[in-house]
Amino acid sequence: MSSFNIAVIKGDGIGPEIVTEAEKVLNAVGKKYGHEFNYTDILMGGCSIDKYGVPLTDEALAIANASDAVLLGAVGGKVGESKWYELPANLRPEAGLLAIRKGMGLFCNLRPAKLFPQLRQACPLKESIIGDKGFDFVVVRELTGGVYFGPRKTEVVDGIRKATDTMPYDENEIKRIVKSAFEIAMKRGKKLASVDKANVLDTSRLWRQIVSEVAADYPEVTVENVLVDNCAMQLVKNPLQFDVIVTENMFGDILTDEASEVTGSIGMLSSASLGSTYHGDKQLGLYEPSHGSAPDIAGKNLANPLATILSAAMMLKYSFNLEKEAQAIEDAVNKVLDDGYRTGDIILASEDASKFKKVGTKEMGDAVAANI
Ligand code: NAD
Repeated sequence: MSSFNIAVIKGDGIGPEIVTEAEKVLNAVGKKYGHEFNYTDILMGGCSIDKYGVPLTDEALAIANASDAVLLGAVGGKVGESKWYELPANLRPEAGLLAIRKGMGLFCNLRPAKLFPQLRQACPLKESIIGDKGFDFVVVRELTGGVYFGPRKTEVVDGIRKATDTMPYDENEIKRIVKSAFEIAMKRGKKLASVDKANVLDTSRLWRQIVSEVAADYPEVTVENVLVDNCAMQLVKNPLQFDVIVTENMFGDILTDEASEVTGSIGMLSSASLGSTYHGDKQLGLYEPSHGSAPDIAGKNLANPLATILSAAMMLKYSFNLEKEAQAIEDAVNKVLDDGYRTGDIILASEDASKFKKVGTKEMGDAVAANI
């Protein structure tokens, strides 16, 4: 029996409800395939502030770093109204997110954009574009470099206000994210689109050179260079052409929002952040849904747990190399959608609700676990 240590951050709002369902599904996987998943709960966000006065303690971070992977629900309270809202920025719940990403050295952010054919009504693109199967690609975004972290200044020059941001990247920063993207492409459809602005930016020219150097180690992967403005267009014109997209921090920030918008369902979108720490052959990563803590529906058994369940599937695939087990979760999610199970957020106002089995958080988790 193989055994995996998972640090679990349930967090705030709907976090505890959705993570409980992901654990339920992981346990079903463990039972079927003979794996043991050991969970250690740690606090982060508002619940950690309430208990320890800070959004993430050094002890909690140490447990996260010693684990094989971290599963996170969400943190934060109601924007503008929660008891944590007026705290200084470094003591708010969301500061826990930045602290854990930094403290775990997570430089590689993966955001899958998958349109489940059963939820095609939620996609704002035309039928003629999305076809029968829907689309399924992942954006790999560099998370710790580029213009968001480069030197900046605001000054007055000859009486004129002037602001400057800079976008530095060195070859090592580029190489490690590009290598991660090739590894991810090897675990998917072996097709990589590298997005840059090499017709204008020096950082992009260096990026393109590194991509072609790293590509030599991955002859099975087909590589294409795409200018960022063209990529933004292609995502709405023909998203089916993409398998893995890799790009720098700011381009990735913008393109991942566009990519999630074209899927239409926030409760379905998983995400992962990886660094370069390995425990044996397990790559340490943080797995979380793309949505927030949804305080408006917390504690009411209304939250959709599927994004968190799909994040657990990513954990199996990317941190634990358990590909068929990850696929079993994805297949089970597909099956419950085929069977008509829906939480309220994935039934559109324009749809006939009587066609579906409307369920709560817990029942959705039960249905996925039963289909493993
Ligand atoms: P949100 O994603 O929490 O909610 C936006 C809307 O989507 C709400 O109407 C909510 O009910 C709905 N929603 C979100 N997830 C859902 C789910 N699984 N099932 C059904 N409906 C769902 O965004 P927000 O309201 O802007 O932020 C709330 C809090 O979450 C804030 O404190 C914010 O800072 C925090 N936040 C945390 C993270 C994180 O932990 N990674 C990410 C984003 C926002």
